[in-house]
Amino acid sequence: MPDPNAQRYDAIVVGGGPAGVSAAITMAREGLEVILIERGRFAGAKNFFGGVMYTRALAEVLPDFQARKPPWERPVTEQGYWMLAPGSVVRFMHASQAYRQDPADAYTVLRARFDPWFAQQAVDLGALVVPKTTVVALIEDADGRVIGVRTDRPAGEVFAPIVILAEGVNNLLTQRHGLAKADLPPRFVALSVKQYIGLPAKEVSARFGLAGTQEGLAIDIFGDATLGLPGTAFLYTDKAGISIGVGLLLEEFVKHGLPPYAVLERFKRHPIVAPYLEGGEALEYGAHLIPEQGYDRMPELVADGVLVAGDAAGMVDALHREGTNLAMLAGKLAGETAVMAHRAGDFSARSLGHYRRALEQSFVLKDLKQYRRMTDFLDRSPHFMGTYSGLVNDAALRYFTAHDRPKREMEREIVGLLRDRRGFFGVAQDLYQLVRGMRG
Ligand SMILES: Cc1cc2nc3c(=O)[nH]c(=O)nc-3n(C[C@H](O)[C@H](O)[C@H](O)COP(=O)(O)OP(=O)(O)OC[C@H]3O[C@@H](n4cnc5c(N)ncnc54)[C@H](O)[C@@H]3O)c2cc1C
Repeated sequence: MPDPNAQRYDAIVVGGGPAGVSAAITMAREGLEVILIERGRFAGAKNFFGGVMYTRALAEVLPDFQARKPPWERPVTEQGYWMLAPGSVVRFMHASQAYRQDPADAYTVLRARFDPWFAQQAVDLGALVVPKTTVVALIEDADGRVIGVRTDRPAGEVFAPIVILAEGVNNLLTQRHGLAKADLPPRFVALSVKQYIGLPAKEVSARFGLAGTQEGLAIDIFGDATLGLPGTAFLYTDKAGISIGVGLLLEEFVKHGLPPYAVLERFKRHPIVAPYLEGGEALEYGAHLIPEQGYDRMPELVADGVLVAGDAAGMVDALHREGTNLAMLAGKLAGETAVMAHRAGDFSARSLGHYRRALEQSFVLKDLKQYRRMTDFLDRSPHFMGTYSGLVNDAALRYFTAHDRPKREMEREIVGLLRDRRGFFGVAQDLYQLVRGMRG
């Protein structure tokens, strides 16, 4: 029996990341009494990411976000890919005037600064944010409907007719409630290690050829950065520092006996990368998992009295390094669904099914569905991460070198590289798998 003196709210949110805060803001703005419970010392204390934050999703949650002065690092005015080989790099970078609007489409941020700001917006709109508190279990009634949560505080039961689980990739509550299978197998989860390296703002701008802090770069890196294994590295410019990291499928770390920090250190020492970091001071270091199970292995998103949003539901588009925007939109749709359920007085899974339908109409589930085969693609075509990076670099070296022999010979040599390292049939197979992976 619920304790009659226990705390009661209209909605409980578990987790103070982008998904949870977006849900809390959406519900608080509509007048619901919302409690958001976060286990960290403050929202963001335990969170980190690459990280590029996208403003369109933020505007969905907080249309006047720019007036609220988010702690942006730099706008992303140039972005793209580097294909790294042991002593060289081929860069595919894109700069556009379109990236220079205010607000920009994307900004680099540090989560230890962004998340507390975002949570404060929820507080300003009337939500109660309770940090340093871990939700240890969901409370169900006799029929299995979720009616509250149990926290690690003394007498720490909190009741509400709806709970939004935005607990991130370690989705223990989602699992315990039977919405997700046990922990993701190492093949469907990436582990990323990151350092934030402090450098004077002027130095960051000078090293990357940026005019000032009004310009910034976001670079995703393949090939030698991950020893040619399925994964990516990244290098993003912050205001007075650089975010650098590398991630591999967990299975690859295990299979090759690679300590994650050693892979990052090796990447940092790469002769193309090291000069950017020289003299910098490592100010933040961490490791975090990224769910990459794809659409087909997502948890159930809805049950009686409960919704799941963000990483807890596997909402990450690794191909485009997007996660926070999916989390924000899912949080918003979960919040809107909770508001509707309150109006209808119906918190059954059937009524809350609106959430799944709204997600299906949005880019969140459309994109996840489209890229549902991406992890399988990487599994079957590991050459995209290794072989092709080396190949493109070796071909570029031949192409750009002034040889004392006819160009036709050089061209034949480049075709020979492709034939010897992957074979024409192999290339055709890889392209087929790529198209399949992209089309869903
Ligand atoms: C290295 C790396 C690079 C990335 N780069 C990018 C990028 O550049 N752009 C991008 O958009 N996305 C990126 N992502 C993905 C992005 O970080 C996530 O998709 C996003 O943070 C998900 O938000 P969320 O709110 O679902 O979960 P989280 O941000 O993980 O928040 C979950 C919160 O729940 C709290 N919590 C967990 N369990 C409990 C509990 N039982 N009780 C109370 N609180 C709890 C946690 O402390 C945490 O604050 C990256 C991720 C990583 C790891």
